[in-house]
Amino acid sequence: MTLSQVISHLSEVIFPPKCLGCAEILKPFNGQIFCSTCHEEIQFINGSICPVCGTTFSDSPAENHLCGDCLEKRPYFSYARAVFSYEEIILKAIHQFKYNRNISVGEMLASFMADFSFPDINFTDYSLMMPVPLHIKRLRERGFNQSLILARVIGKKKQIPVNFSLLKRRKFTLTQTGSNKKERKQNIKGAFEVSDPQKIADKNIILVDDVYTTGATVNECAKTLIRAGAQKVSVLTIARVLPH
Ligand SMILES: [Zn+2]
Ligand SMILES: [Zn+2]
Repeated sequence: MTLSQVISHLSEVIFPPKCLGCAEILKPFNGQIFCSTCHEEIQFINGSICPVCGTTFSDSPAENHLCGDCLEKRPYFSYARAVFSYEEIILKAIHQFKYNRNISVGEMLASFMADFSFPDINFTDYSLMMPVPLHIKRLRERGFNQSLILARVIGKKKQIPVNFSLLKRRKFTLTQTGSNKKERKQNIKGAFEVSDPQKIADKNIILVDDVYTTGATVNECAKTLIRAGAQKVSVLTIARVLPH
């Protein structure tokens, strides 16, 4: 047994891994993050999706096809993919992380993301990873950028460098909860800037966020990055709001 195995063994005894949904102790622990009861209730995103934004369809057609939104206006990102549908257990787990400052919940979710096989995402195609930035005011309020914590874990596992300062948020926006798609798009317009465009020139970038709601924020980030010279931007989130 190596030292790190001993330490991880010890920490499992002292801080036994708990289900991220109901806090039940996971025994035996095999690297899973939810107990079997919670696992059954979680909606993984699978089946046919929009190949660009990753939304699912209520009539579950046999093949992937562009959704109405992406047909109307193609986003600036190439692919947006999420692991889970944003509801119940996942919503609670993300809340634990984001608002109750339970960093280890975020790290476990991120580790799960890194091991998940997202359709059309080949990590070796990307040479830079970045979180959706928070405005300094929001960062001070929350104490950490939840997306940076996710990006760090995924970047380390996938050996992709993470940069959190090239993409900056210059405009403070109030929380977008309750705004519709059009309002969100308007609010977020011009909110980001790239501090040193040379460093992203011709790069394929993975942008990381916690939740994909309407896609307005990540699309504005992607627009800013592409206009500053990035080659391709893809988006990974823990969860996604699905339209049905
Ligand atoms: Zn559970
Ligand atoms: Zn779409």
